[in-house]
Amino acid sequence: MTIAVYPGSFDPVTYGHVDIVTRVAHLFKEVIVGVYDTPPKNLLFTTQERVEMFRGSVTHLKNVRVTQYTGLTVHFAQSMKAQVVVRGLRMFSDFEREFEMALMNKKLAPGIELVCMMSSLEYQFVSSSLLKEVFILRGDADSLVPPHVATAMRKKLVEKGLIPAAPPKRASARK
Ligand code: ADP
Repeated sequence: MTIAVYPGSFDPVTYGHVDIVTRVAHLFKEVIVGVYDTPPKNLLFTTQERVEMFRGSVTHLKNVRVTQYTGLTVHFAQSMKAQVVVRGLRMFSDFEREFEMALMNKKLAPGIELVCMMSSLEYQFVSSSLLKEVFILRGDADSLVPPHVATAMRKKLVEKGLIPAAPPKRASARK
């Protein structure tokens, strides 16, 4: 019975990620989402926040658990006794990057297989980084993330001074 890990930055988790993990949960005995501690990108959320947001998005999936990791993904997979690493593919650019990483991972850990899942059509254009930009520019992208993630995004962007706090509600005019 195969165990899979699904690694990523998840800054923050989107419905694109939830779609992938929901689909792979049907294929494997257990799926362990690995939230990478220190990816080489500017992060909005702390590791613990990214873990908690992902946990809150997969409460319906009983064979999925979420944990953080640091270091090489293949070492994380080995420590979880996983035989498979899952990644999602959206565009050609994802393919090139994943292919390169897959070859390196195969060299480092020949026993671990990569399974790439094609993004569902409705999430092909969804990325955490683009979502952050849309939220900063006050666009409505709420349908692309779980509700608790949309709330956390706004709170974090206000805290970081990237968007203004919501204006106080106007008192309604008396008749
Ligand atoms: P990373 O920094 O490791 O690329 P991400 O959080 O951006 O982490 O993505 C984690 C994984 O999920 C990657 O394999 C990525 O290609 C995949 N992914 C991201 N967004 C989507 C999406 N909308 N549909 C399918 N897969 C996605």
